[in-house]
Amino acid sequence: MSSDSCPICEMDAEGVNLSSGVEVECPRCGVYRVTYSLHDMLSGEYLEDERHILSGLARFASDREEPLRLHTQNVEQLIAEATPPTTPDERADFFLRVLAKRADPQTSIMVVDCDNDMSLCYSPSREDFEGILEDLETRGFVQTDDDGDEREVKLTVAGWRAAKGEEARTTPKPQAFVAMSFSRDDILEQAYEQAFRPALRRCGYRVFRSAKPHPDKTIDAEILEEIGKSAIMLADLTEHRPAVLFEAGYARGLGRKVIYTCHRQDHDECCLDIKHYWREPWDEDDLDSLADRLVEYMQEHGLEAKPE
Ligand SMILES: [Zn+2]
Repeated sequence: MSSDSCPICEMDAEGVNLSSGVEVECPRCGVYRVTYSLHDMLSGEYLEDERHILSGLARFASDREEPLRLHTQNVEQLIAEATPPTTPDERADFFLRVLAKRADPQTSIMVVDCDNDMSLCYSPSREDFEGILEDLETRGFVQTDDDGDEREVKLTVAGWRAAKGEEARTTPKPQAFVAMSFSRDDILEQAYEQAFRPALRRCGYRVFRSAKPHPDKTIDAEILEEIGKSAIMLADLTEHRPAVLFEAGYARGLGRKVIYTCHRQDHDECCLDIKHYWREPWDEDDLDSLADRLVEYMQEHGLEAKPE
């Protein structure tokens, strides 16, 4: 059975029903899987203003042959943690780098389909995307053959050069790793959303948190790799999870700074002998001020992100 439109972008798309959801093949968003419950939510106005971000994320993942598996538990986090270009000029610079990666190095040409390829710079509309191509042409970075849907876009020498310079200027933000318990307690989720993540972002980090189904069982190689890639860690000791302590110890062993926080209830009976490390107690009534206190602490201790 096949559905006829992409739940993310509403373009004509192929859909194959699987037991757990639908595998969609969309010319703009690529191949991805979506659970039935999320599929239903997307047919309404859910995430209406963020669809272009989701479309771009799905497209890049599909092109890397790592198709996204979207469900109600991960979709908002994926969007929140993405760092897409947000203004037309950022999108233009971003698309210039895409062209430099995807153009044929012999001919400097990439065939661009305006409807399908606007996802390659997270463009929210066809009009916006055409404006971006026009801007790149005006700046002498590309030449295009006509104004149709499908265009041969050719990078000029200046375009190649600018793409490289742009790459040098826009290295990704350093990563901060958040280690914390994943109990069913909504309070922890709130603390992450309202305090941990915003505080780290305000200090210039992009934030990585291990995927949700992460009970205390296994700490796999992937997690250790992410800790290794991170410049700093925030370890929340609420509920005294062994996995959190292990991750914090691993980070310290790598020479990373670790900021400890803990819910006030668990704060005084701290496990192990780490009482002499700074720990910021919090509770659900002071999450906004917790964010401020964390930022202040990081500023005072020179822990703000430094460009890599
Ligand atoms: Zn789509």
